Amino acid sequence: MTETLDIKITKTTHSRLAETDFDNLPFGKTFSDHMFVADYADGEWKNLQVIPYGEIGLSPAISALHYGQSFFEGLKAYKHADGKVTIFRPDKNAIRFNKSAERLCMPTLPEEIFLQSMAAVVDLDREWVPSKPNHALYIRPFMFATDPYLGVTPSATYKYMVICGPVGPYFSKTLRVKIETYYTRAAEGGMGYAKAAGNYGSAMLPSRKAAEEGFDQLIWTDAKEHKYVEEMGAANAMFMLDGKLITAEAKDTILDGVTRDTVIALAKEWGIEVETRKVSVAEIIEGAKTGKLTDAFGAGTAATIASVGSISVDGEEYFLSDPKTREFSQKVLATLDAIKYGRAEDTHGWNYLV
Ligand code: PMP
Repeated sequence: MTETLDIKITKTTHSRLAETDFDNLPFGKTFSDHMFVADYADGEWKNLQVIPYGEIGLSPAISALHYGQSFFEGLKAYKHADGKVTIFRPDKNAIRFNKSAERLCMPTLPEEIFLQSMAAVVDLDREWVPSKPNHALYIRPFMFATDPYLGVTPSATYKYMVICGPVGPYFSKTLRVKIETYYTRAAEGGMGYAKAAGNYGSAMLPSRKAAEEGFDQLIWTDAKEHKYVEEMGAANAMFMLDGKLITAEAKDTILDGVTRDTVIALAKEWGIEVETRKVSVAEIIEGAKTGKLTDAFGAGTAATIASVGSISVDGEEYFLSDPKTREFSQKVLATLDAIKYGRAEDTHGWNYLV
């Protein structure tokens, strides 16, 4: 048995629940009533508490703002028909959280603090977990450096926080994606495998340029030659080519996605051959031309399974089949949802009960 942590709880005196429009939830703009905060100093995590969601005071010199010692995670809590609330595979995010921490020279967080901090906020804010189909409570744990010191060295103090907010579907349509052959998200030896804040900042300009050209998402390629597919926006790129599920292997340029891992596990159980390896742009385009590419999607917590409608490279656009007719991604999405929302038995032990 893991010990129950001593978390101080201060409840809000004014819940915003009644004034929140659950029919209109643009991603990431609505926050629940409470948040978690803990401080790292003198080599340990302390002051574990849940407090009302709100602004926090910080020195303008904190190194998170200047040198980017900052990273995060993203998970979701789901409401089952019987009212139960579960978080999907948070143990995987706990591991990735600490991989990010190590890469950024920041302190790791004991798994029980990660799990119990989220559970404490979600428990208090369980009314905020939407009951509508395809809706969930998005959970955002994050850590950042707080030393008010402009020296370029790792901070000695940090904050770990968790904020949450109800969300609906991230993408409402089939995606028109562009294979990026100039900008780079991650290079070998870099920090692509970490959920570092800076990875997302550096993706904004290329993403905006692609949006101006009419694309919904980018497919990132390798930094050296731009010949191999890496990820799709903030999701893992997965393909069904010639009857096999293929995706880039998890290495230091790839964020090892929880959804990716889950999709791979299900595919293997269904007897589908899975290849995690270098995936060339050439084979994807060839597959699109010949019809051997029967499925293409982004897999991620926010996006779930986001179907790709067309792929463009060097000004040529290749159209894929109607997503409704795609056997694999339809089945994977339905299975994932059934598990997450408690409609199917959780035989893998993926649901963490709050
Ligand atoms: N790649 C990147 C760059 C991401 O930001 C995300 C979202 N966390 C993913 C992949 C998918 O990871 P997960 O399935 O764990 O959400």
